[in-house]
Amino acid sequence: EAKHEAYGLEKVVQHAHARTRGDLTGALATYIPELARVDPERFGIALVSVGGEVVGVGDVEVPFTIQSISKALAYCLALEAAGRDRVLAHVGVEPSGDAFNAIVFDPHTNRPYNPMVNAGAITVSGLLAQALGAEAFDVLLDRFSAAAGRKLGFDEAVYRSEAETGHRNRGIAHLLKNAGALEADVDATLDLYFRQCSILVTASDLARMGATLASIGENPLTGATVFAVEAVRGTLSVMFTCGMYDFAGNWAFDVGVPAKSGVGGGILGVVNRQLGIGTYSPRLDTKGNSVRGIAAFRELAEELGLHIFDPT
Ligand code: GLN
Repeated sequence: EAKHEAYGLEKVVQHAHARTRGDLTGALATYIPELARVDPERFGIALVSVGGEVVGVGDVEVPFTIQSISKALAYCLALEAAGRDRVLAHVGVEPSGDAFNAIVFDPHTNRPYNPMVNAGAITVSGLLAQALGAEAFDVLLDRFSAAAGRKLGFDEAVYRSEAETGHRNRGIAHLLKNAGALEADVDATLDLYFRQCSILVTASDLARMGATLASIGENPLTGATVFAVEAVRGTLSVMFTCGMYDFAGNWAFDVGVPAKSGVGGGILGVVNRQLGIGTYSPRLDTKGNSVRGIAAFRELAEELGLHIFDPT
């Protein structure tokens, strides 16, 4: 029997929230004004089990932009839409140890290291733009919505700001094009990338998305089949090795579950065949990961025995 059933999941989550809420270190993302304006005090933890149990503590219904968490779900979609071989020919699956926005490719392949850093994610957006054409964003938003089990919205102001100020990402896209990793039109690719980053989610949505991945592509609350089994396997693999950027090794060591963070303050975690976990707290550490999100995951992993290599 899983530990969480014996302890009562709700109590464990309340305890994790109470133990970590006092950590006010870190800073809001400020690269666009919209992110600098959010309420830094917000903090929510949500869990959804593959059996359909739902727990939420704190600000689990506050919307924020998904940002880099979109990279994981977009990769899953690309594995389906473009096919595994084509995706692997354009983006690697090696952890880079570099910051999320690093301008560096794998010297052996001249391809981005992995789909969880910007260079790889922009390449994935290009594959989706090519495979799905003008409908790409609608298809992606529908699929993200099915994973969350509700119709998700999109933050127009964040999208505009990202598109107007995203010169580093534009630079990366042009270098990808030059290297041959990106075949699609640069502007169409970046438009999809900036849009997917601007999708609005809550911690509850992230938990339901996580539960959809945990139950190998089937949303346990709606019963809908959202992602193909092989695509989920590939996605969880890169989330495990690369999902927390240059903190991925520490995360795998301490928390030990596939996860993806975003500069909007969210973290999505997946306990394979058991749980989806979503946290929201917008103060970030210097690597761009949510400070209290990491702390909450550490607590939960400890209390619930979530680490993939835990003996029980
Ligand atoms: N929109 C952000 C960017 O591309 C997303 C980065 C992130 O969440 N780490 O820079």
